[in-house]
Amino acid sequence: MARQDAARVIADLFASEGAAGYLGEPVTQADHMLQAGMLAEQAGAPAPLIAAALLHDVGHFTGAVSGQDLMRGTDNKHSDQGAAWLAQWFGPEVTEPVRLHVEAKRYLCAAEPDYFARLSPASVYTLGVQGGPMRTDEMAAFEASPYAQDACRVRRWDDDAKDPDRSAPAFEHFASLIDALTKANSDTVRPQRHGPRIASARTPHRGHPRKSPGSSESTAAW
Ligand code: FE
Repeated sequence: MARQDAARVIADLFASEGAAGYLGEPVTQADHMLQAGMLAEQAGAPAPLIAAALLHDVGHFTGAVSGQDLMRGTDNKHSDQGAAWLAQWFGPEVTEPVRLHVEAKRYLCAAEPDYFARLSPASVYTLGVQGGPMRTDEMAAFEASPYAQDACRVRRWDDDAKDPDRSAPAFEHFASLIDALTKANSDTVRPQRHGPRIASARTPHRGHPRKSPGSSESTAAW
């Protein structure tokens, strides 16, 4: 897919599935990711990390197993799915923090005693589905990744990006950043490191917002 399609395809995804009601949370999935992108921008993060924050949950839309399935107890591996989908346009500076943002939650739960208290009830629930806090050996492996710190930064913006009173810019605000990153990546020759390139998202359920399987469930902190 041509690089100039990236911003359009992602914008369409935000406007379709991303705009749907979000399982009882006061923010939509699109609002959640836009807030995360904005928090990264406000923190002065480099462009690839802003993009990673903005796009960290696209795997809920692009994978074969949905966020609904995650809330029913089946790990949808959305971080892996999202990273593989994004790899058609972006390099590891973007895709690796996305791929590792669930692992970062597991890591931070084990590494920082106060971190667990920050998690929403839904995120506590999905933590169990996703493997729970890391074991010591898993922590060492995570820390060995050159993208571990970036993943933890994305994770913290993720956790904070659920405020219904926080206004976030429209996706268009980030379009030029997406364009610049995809152009830079298309000009860079490097071996494929993580997963196949996937040409398109799972067909969006346009006009059919996902409904919560339970009113107590919330998912914006995945
Ligand atoms: Fe998230």
